[in-house]
Amino acid sequence: MPHLRAFAPCLFALLLISSCQKEVTNPDNTSTATSGNSDECPSLQAFLVASESEQETQNNTLLQYFTLQELSDLRSNTCLAKSPTEDESGTTERASGAKGRFWTPGATIRVRFLNGSATLQQKVFAWATEWENYADVDFVQVNSGASEVRVLFGNDGYWSYVGLDNANIEACEETMSLQLTDQTSATEIRRVALHEFGHVLGMRHEHQQPAASIPWNTTAVYNYYSQQGWSRTEVDEQVLNKNSTETTQYTGFDASSIMEYPVPASLTTNGYSIGWNTQLSAADKSFMQLMYSSRRIKVRHAASGYTGKITFLVAGIYHTLLPGETLSVPVQSGANTLSVYEQVSGAWAWDDYSVAYGSNYKIVRTGAANNMTLQVE
Ligand SMILES: [Zn+2]
Repeated sequence: MPHLRAFAPCLFALLLISSCQKEVTNPDNTSTATSGNSDECPSLQAFLVASESEQETQNNTLLQYFTLQELSDLRSNTCLAKSPTEDESGTTERASGAKGRFWTPGATIRVRFLNGSATLQQKVFAWATEWENYADVDFVQVNSGASEVRVLFGNDGYWSYVGLDNANIEACEETMSLQLTDQTSATEIRRVALHEFGHVLGMRHEHQQPAASIPWNTTAVYNYYSQQGWSRTEVDEQVLNKNSTETTQYTGFDASSIMEYPVPASLTTNGYSIGWNTQLSAADKSFMQLMYSSRRIKVRHAASGYTGKITFLVAGIYHTLLPGETLSVPVQSGANTLSVYEQVSGAWAWDDYSVAYGSNYKIVRTGAANNMTLQVE
């Protein structure tokens, strides 16, 4: 199988059906969307032709090694995650997103379909706008000119860039790949569109969020993916590793999230499994309502001499600050409790403080090394 590694990304895309979230190496945390006027890109048409040719070649290559049934089966086996590492503190909202990559509340996000029938485009876009009921953004479909999201239908699997990363992609490149056709079922189109546009809005895969609690049988996971040519490192990065707290804003783990893959029982230690989630969960909705709320406070890591990161919880969402970092975070109306994970009387625990919209705060160090206090800026 000399060419297996070369098309591993394609195989991965098939495996993780509504799957991959793409990363750019230096995300720009500003919210100014400036990318792409495809009309002014003379290579766009050539790009589309080349892309379709490349996809056909990849697909034919895959079929040298897998039957159509095997490829279909692979699509139902997806990603996993580890034991919980965070105290969920009774939170009821469960979801996660990429820190600093959410759009500014009220943002307009232009969506351009690079190919596909008008009917298919309309179906996908209609489900994308479902998110507008919760996240304060405005998706606008454009047929020419600049766009932040460019959707390519083809055989390159399912993936999307995350949040503001979409605004930093070359104008001639798609930002989202959808392996949908006019023959795809309505349920599948809904599931895929909601999932991929969740990525557009900054959401990450639920099974890799810091509080994920899937009881992986790691040996089974390694064995399973090794049969498909994956190294242990690839399995770690694509399946088992969780996103770090300092790069994620998240709630407790939500197995019903549209951002969660199905998990087969054969890959867990106790028969735990997750089926196909095809609609937004209650937590998906409440999380995005909050993350796109304009009712926010700022919180700053101002613990002098303390080089560790500080995690705090407010309005049901965990945030983690690096030394000197300031975050703008959503709060509920009225009084809120902000809990800082710190060392109180020698033990690590959540220490509660009262905060309110309209003030900004800093976390300072008092007394013992890891004993913090929240103060108004
Ligand atoms: Zn995904």
